[in-house]
Amino acid sequence: RRQELRKLKDLPTYAKDGHRVELAANIGSVEDLQKVLDNGAEGIGLFRTEFLYMGRNALPSEEEQFQIYKHVLERMANKPVVIRTLDIGGDKELPYLKLPAESNPFLGLRAVRLCLDRQDLFRTQLRALLRASSYGQLKIMFPMIAVVEELQAAKRLLQEEKAKLVQEGVPVADDTEVGIMIEVPAAALAADSLAQEVDFFSIGTNDLIQYTMAADRMNENVSYLYQPCHPSVLRLIRMVIQAAEKEGKWVGMCGEMAGDPTAIPLLLGLGLHEFSMSASSILPARALIKELSRQEWAGYAEQALAMGSQASIQAFVNHKIKE
Ligand code: PEP
Ligand code: MG
Repeated sequence: RRQELRKLKDLPTYAKDGHRVELAANIGSVEDLQKVLDNGAEGIGLFRTEFLYMGRNALPSEEEQFQIYKHVLERMANKPVVIRTLDIGGDKELPYLKLPAESNPFLGLRAVRLCLDRQDLFRTQLRALLRASSYGQLKIMFPMIAVVEELQAAKRLLQEEKAKLVQEGVPVADDTEVGIMIEVPAAALAADSLAQEVDFFSIGTNDLIQYTMAADRMNENVSYLYQPCHPSVLRLIRMVIQAAEKEGKWVGMCGEMAGDPTAIPLLLGLGLHEFSMSASSILPARALIKELSRQEWAGYAEQALAMGSQASIQAFVNHKIKE
């Protein structure tokens, strides 16, 4: 089986009926890159940049960040690399920022909310990203967007830093895509208007499930509510994909769900374009998708989404896979 999977390493990902999708990897540090290359990822769908800021006493400099982003882009040799701007807050803290304690950190000053509040650190990261953009196929992604104003503000800061760099004569790519994570139900429900302002969406199901089900993703007492294939979650995902399609934008997924063999057939059927997962899941996912017809699963997905519970949807999917 391992050898069978190895044969798929350098192949693009096609469903049985010739429908093409992209399998990308999630990384959290530069050390993860070798595994990504060894497992035949078609790109990086999520580079979590938090590690750059954690386990130290001060913010990373622009130069330090630039070197790391450039290194990742060069190693990926012009394959797409989605780098997410800082997603701190929630469960991840930076003691040296001395942020006020919050009673509900997951509903507090997190990710892009913090970055828009602390523009100094956000601008530094944006400059580092823009400087790295001429070394590969960079795509910039903002996490935890809830309302269009946050996206507009983030894009404005990006534009301002780009203009400054150009003024300084620094080479900056002209075709860098800008997208957002869909992790907040409000963003999923308003995906039609958000789609007009981005180049792509990436659905962050780890958070989207937690916020949709009102169940802390790390609290074992309510883990029964953490249901990736709950019809409410799947309907939000369908809504996001349809909204993006209408605007001609692509949609990826970078939460754990993207590598889940029970979810993959449904996501393929719903028309997800890019699946980003841990490197070790890529070859199994490629082998699975090869056996599935997009056309057929489009119909099954519609049937599944009309069902009332995750249990019935999972039973239906398992039944159809065996057929
Ligand atoms: C997600 O929420 O699905 C996601 C990929 O982001 P993180 O797990 O880093 O919150
Ligand atoms: Mg998240």
